Amino acid sequence: MIKRTRMRMSPHTAFPHRAPHSLLDHHPLRAYRPAAMSVLVVGSIALDTVKTPVEEHADLLGGSASYAAVGASFFAPVNFVGVVGTDFPKEHIDYLRSRQINLDGLQIVEGKTFRWSGEYMWDLNTRETRSVELNVFEHFTPTLPASYVDTPYVLLANIAPSLQSHVLDQMKRPKFIIADTMDLWINIARQDLTALLKRVDMLILNDSEARQFTEETSLIKAGNKIRKMGPRFVAIKKGEHGCLLFGENQFFSCPAYPLEDIHDPTGAGDTFAGGLAGYLAAKNQDQVTFETLRKAVVHGSALASFNVEAFSLERLRTLSQSEIDQRYQIFRKMSHFEEV
Ligand code: AMP
Repeated sequence: MIKRTRMRMSPHTAFPHRAPHSLLDHHPLRAYRPAAMSVLVVGSIALDTVKTPVEEHADLLGGSASYAAVGASFFAPVNFVGVVGTDFPKEHIDYLRSRQINLDGLQIVEGKTFRWSGEYMWDLNTRETRSVELNVFEHFTPTLPASYVDTPYVLLANIAPSLQSHVLDQMKRPKFIIADTMDLWINIARQDLTALLKRVDMLILNDSEARQFTEETSLIKAGNKIRKMGPRFVAIKKGEHGCLLFGENQFFSCPAYPLEDIHDPTGAGDTFAGGLAGYLAAKNQDQVTFETLRKAVVHGSALASFNVEAFSLERLRTLSQSEIDQRYQIFRKMSHFEEV
């Protein structure tokens, strides 16, 4: 997985608030576990312009919710919440629908869709935000359709923590709530984020954000400290170095997939979170165990490793269940070592 270094995101961007094996294998429904419960995904939907040292593409489908929802859709049905403008291409809506993503919670508002532009440095790790146009996102209030309020699994993808809390206010006792966040909210909405932490089961953030939030240099101290602030579980992403998972007296280190060619790291973290949430919803345990969470983290990492192989969500469009399963097995082999 690639590190989501959101460097130099200025406070001015702040706002308030491989080939498929058969046709069957390729069909999204093939990936569903029969007993999978639904996941509610809320976050941003964007038209992104992304520049890497070798390529630049404009007006790509992006946004935290888009990546997270498509990631989750490989494992479970998704209830999607977000906002777009009237300029949002119908082909993107058709694509999300083709993934069996329920779009009853998608608001289409007069105006332009949220636009974000970023440039990656030569290491494809450090990223600079070039521009942000909030457009219809500026006054977004996530309102849940009645049919969403008892969704058992919730993924609060990256948006303002006050909006993430507003979603929870409308829900009836979800089984498991995951929140993602970013440096921007640690900078300008720390109080809201701290309040949100008391209401979630799991927080996902990257290494620099964990250090920033806790003012600890040790990621182990940081993970344990965040757990004490509310969430039973914390996942700290280390980009190209994998991910750390913290539970009560429990710790897991997930390796990163040794990918040679990365084309676009955008959305890796969101795809990771979506895959993780979808896997948990597919398993639907009475009480999420650390063992299942470890497998969820590996599935999220596998999906994220595919996502960075192409721009936008292009690689996820052709991704098959058997490819995910094969990569999961590679993760297993990479992490295994013999007795002395
Ligand atoms: P990531 O690479 O995981 O940081 O996610 C990148 C996605 O986040 C892009 O597709 C952007 O459209 C979206 N994004 C950028 N800035 C924000 C923001 N302030 N709030 C919500 N989503 C954002």
